Amino acid sequence: MAAVDALVIGSGVSGLTSAVCLTEAGLRVTVRTADPPSHTTSAVAGALWLPYLVEPLDRVTGWGRTTVADLSSLAGEPATGVRLATGVHASRTTGQPPPWTETVGAVRCPPADLPAGFVAGWRFTAPLVEMPVYLRYLTDRLRAAGARIDQRPVASLDEALAAAPLVVNCAGIGARELVPDPAVRPVRGQVVVVENPGIEEFFAEEPGTATELRYVLPHRDTVVLGGTAEPEQPDLTPQPEVARRIVARCTEVVPALAGAWVVAHRVGLRPVRNQVRLDEERRPGGRIIHNYGHGGGGVTLSWGCAREVAARAGSGQLRP
Ligand SMILES: Cc1cc2nc3c(=O)[nH]c(=O)nc-3n(C[C@H](O)[C@H](O)[C@H](O)COP(=O)(O)OP(=O)(O)OC[C@H]3O[C@@H](n4cnc5c(N)ncnc54)[C@H](O)[C@@H]3O)c2cc1C
Repeated sequence: MAAVDALVIGSGVSGLTSAVCLTEAGLRVTVRTADPPSHTTSAVAGALWLPYLVEPLDRVTGWGRTTVADLSSLAGEPATGVRLATGVHASRTTGQPPPWTETVGAVRCPPADLPAGFVAGWRFTAPLVEMPVYLRYLTDRLRAAGARIDQRPVASLDEALAAAPLVVNCAGIGARELVPDPAVRPVRGQVVVVENPGIEEFFAEEPGTATELRYVLPHRDTVVLGGTAEPEQPDLTPQPEVARRIVARCTEVVPALAGAWVVAHRVGLRPVRNQVRLDEERRPGGRIIHNYGHGGGGVTLSWGCAREVAARAGSGQLRP
């Protein structure tokens, strides 16, 4: 008999949250990961609850709603890195509310509350996650529940199935080679982390299809300034000129950022796919539940997807 019930591939937010749900459901779980949690795309994220570059809308809405509830329940504990933050999401081009406004009870802002050049905006309160802290929290919770984290890449899904009868594939952009699934495409994101000069509220500009984004996400001691969305650009080196433009764009809407000390530059590759892949595959060695392709919303969907993974693991359901 295998000593492990489930092998989870990946220690980003999708892998760790899936592993937590499976372990707390009573399964013996090992996480296999090429990179430590601190070196994943997840560690780069801002991370505000906000669906972005994720489809399909109906499943995203359900996963997002579950995640709001789970993250909100963690917001009272400082060690989690999660807090409920209030702020504005604003658009320069459209007065139409984004599809997620209902989930977080967003209300239209009076025009006087918007920065110059914006035509509409929505004020809401949502989970805002300091990812380096949160990934440590998930790792500790997982280990406390008895799971193991093994930092070693998996060469193939069949190799993973030889270690456990159930494999949960949360390889993020790595799924492109591992599955292999060419539908997963890297969309590069660069952010600048500055010391927090006392900002409490977030600001995010409706991204549309822009490659240069604008968002200000304040945590306890730092503020994450974004960002970029550069399709098919896999370079992980921070670009100084891109960073300079990010700081300038953000300071334009939040003048308190002027002169804020830069503490870090981060770059990650969003695993964008035409649809998030959360479905099952049977092979001679066992079952694989795929959970990847979360684009710019992996934190936003993490608990909803992980709970579906655990439900499927329990039921043996085969339909997507
Ligand atoms: C700049 C930026 C800002 C973002 N902001 C937000 C935000 O505000 N809100 C939000 O919800 N989302 C945001 N995102 C998106 C979010 O970060 C991703 O959707 C999320 O991190 C995907 O998580 P994941 O666990 O699926 O993948 P990852 O975090 O990439 O983890 C993949 C894991 O798989 C492992 N792996 C890959 N291949 C193998 C293999 N062969 N063997 C073993 N292990 C393997 C890797 O080592 C890693 O541990 C942002 C992303 C970026 C880049």
